[in-house]
Amino acid sequence: MIIGRVLDNEKKIKFDVEITCTNCGKIVPGGLQTGESYYQTREFQVELENFKKIYLCGICRDKKRVNKG
Ligand SMILES: [Zn+2]
Repeated sequence: MIIGRVLDNEKKIKFDVEITCTNCGKIVPGGLQTGESYYQTREFQVELENFKKIYLCGICRDKKRVNKG
C-alpha cells in the first residue's frame, strides 16, 4: 500500500507498521511504501498518524460500502 507522495522516478521506502482496524480492532500487519524524500518529513509523520486513526480492514471497508449502498 502506498501512502503520501511518491515523485516520478523516485525510490520508494518500504516500511512495516502495525495498523489496527478502527472498527473491529483487528491488527493488520501493514507493509507500506512512500517516496524517499517524503519519508523524512513532518507531514509524513502526521499523515501516517491520521492513516492509522481512520484505518479500516478490508472486511470492514466492504461492510461500510454495502451499508451505504
Ligand atoms: Zn475491521
